[in-house]
Amino acid sequence: MPPVADWDLVVVGAGPAGSAAAISALRERPDARVLVLDRAPMGRDKVCGDGIAPHAVAELERLGVSAGKPAEKLSGVRLVAPNGRSVGALPTVTGYVIPRATFDERLLKAALSAGAEFEVQRVTSVEQDGASVVLNDRWRASTVIGADGSNSSVRRLMGQPANRGRALAVAIRGYSPTPTGAPRELTIRWDSQRAGGLCYAWAFPTANGTTNVGYGMSSGAPDHSRARLEQRARELLPDYNFDGVPLTGHTLPLTVSRPRPAVGRVLLVGDAASLINPFTGEGIYAAIVSGALAGAAAINAPDAPGPAYARALAARFHRQHRQTGALYRIIDSPTVLNTVIRAAGRDARLFDRLIDVGLGDSVFTLGDLARFARHAF
Ligand SMILES: Cc1cc2nc3c(=O)[nH]c(=O)nc-3n(C[C@H](O)[C@H](O)[C@H](O)COP(=O)(O)OP(=O)(O)OC[C@H]3O[C@@H](n4cnc5c(N)ncnc54)[C@H](O)[C@@H]3O)c2cc1C
Repeated sequence: MPPVADWDLVVVGAGPAGSAAAISALRERPDARVLVLDRAPMGRDKVCGDGIAPHAVAELERLGVSAGKPAEKLSGVRLVAPNGRSVGALPTVTGYVIPRATFDERLLKAALSAGAEFEVQRVTSVEQDGASVVLNDRWRASTVIGADGSNSSVRRLMGQPANRGRALAVAIRGYSPTPTGAPRELTIRWDSQRAGGLCYAWAFPTANGTTNVGYGMSSGAPDHSRARLEQRARELLPDYNFDGVPLTGHTLPLTVSRPRPAVGRVLLVGDAASLINPFTGEGIYAAIVSGALAGAAAINAPDAPGPAYARALAARFHRQHRQTGALYRIIDSPTVLNTVIRAAGRDARLFDRLIDVGLGDSVFTLGDLARFARHAF
């Protein structure tokens, strides 16, 4: 007889994906034994734009978590085309800008309130037999969820290689004083220079008088050095002062190359599963959704959590992953971006669709393409 698991679920990583997994599992079965492990104590920073999309907010509300405060709310989203044309609109549902140390702590506290336990431990080994998974020769779980981010150890230990080249973006971010009178909008400004994929600067104002500013591009670009990222950030965001602002870098594994979402009883979610939207770099929404799906599969399908999670993930994202994968080949064309943003400026429904594809799990329809054609020229 194999030993009985001590935990129904052990989650590795206490970012949005990991906390969502724990909360979701405990909503399915409030007496489930759920342990969350993170190498860092609660309240750690994470290099991010801190933009919490309306879609992510709605997903958290479905999990019973209210993550934002009124002062952290945004008044809109502004897209700036490579040619400088700017288009703005109110989001249909409110989004937030919340520094990740604060946001992630709120989600982890919600998981603990739901009944999860938390320990500070770096996971370095994963062994599975047919019936359970053992981490660090110490914790035995019926299911393990790898929510340990873009350099996932769990993914590597399960024999799945990391993203590289065009399937991986690199980005830097810092906090610059918010210029007087600047609107409380998410601003995304696409670069006019081609870089083989995702390539834009952002300015996301926080509630504390600073703005999260940064720049990201594909790691497939010939020059994706830190110096280059900083130079383009300064050039594309001339209203922001970068002098003396510490800039920190991190990687973004994009959906254009994804690992198997499950190997046996080990499920991958969020960045560990390469679920970052290649059009925008948004990853928190997919982290929360995938975490919630995996947490539910761990509890509702304890004999075969892997297939249950893989099916649920595909049902939610399959169409978007297929379409964004195809369109990613042309996304760094300034002409395409200029045309798309011009059309979105003339048609509010197209603007909303761009937001839903870039920040949620929508796809462009044939009707959208007809509208683009009508408004683009
Ligand atoms: C510069 C930049 C800007 C971005 N801006 C945005 C944005 O504005 N909006 C948006 O939606 N997305 C943004 N993203 C993407 C977003 O940050 C990620 O998609 C999101 O953090 C993924 O959440 P996660 O829970 O999967 O992983 P993470 O948030 O990375 O959490 C992983 C956790 O695992 C822990 N961990 C790692 N290894 C181990 C281990 N071996 N053992 C135990 N614990 C471990 C870490 O300490 C961490 O707490 C940005 C990314 C970057 C790099």
